[in-house]
Amino acid sequence: MAQRLSSVRMSTCLVCGKLTFDTKRPPKFHRYCWRVWLKSPDGRSFQQSLGMRRMRPNLLPRRMGAPVDENKLRGRYAWAIQCRLGENSYRQIAEENNIADFTIVRDGIEFIMNKLPPPEFVAARFRKPIQLLRATLTADYSPSIAVLNG
Ligand SMILES: [Zn+2]
Repeated sequence: MAQRLSSVRMSTCLVCGKLTFDTKRPPKFHRYCWRVWLKSPDGRSFQQSLGMRRMRPNLLPRRMGAPVDENKLRGRYAWAIQCRLGENSYRQIAEENNIADFTIVRDGIEFIMNKLPPPEFVAARFRKPIQLLRATLTADYSPSIAVLNG
């Protein structure tokens, strides 16, 4: 992977719940989702409240539950790349990270795979790994290979 994860900032989108990527700060929305949300009744009220200089953050969409731990997200995303694109097994990744229980790695990767956004939702520079990871979700990819390696 040419992309250096250390320069990637990650979070999850408050609208769609999928991963967001940026370089400077962890974004709370995909641009697309933000635009769609601004047109929603809540979004309109929010903009009006901004116009009146009485920002009402309670109008922002909430899908978060627990606050997002960016380091955890980045770590899991790196595991997903190592496993799905680099063919490292769950156990190898667990060993390299001093994690006793490989199911933590497996579940972490599963979590990321479920949160992959449509590639067009993220800036072009972040699209490639997402496209590649999403491709492993199709029928062509046999999860049994990873299980056997584990
Ligand atoms: Zn979104």
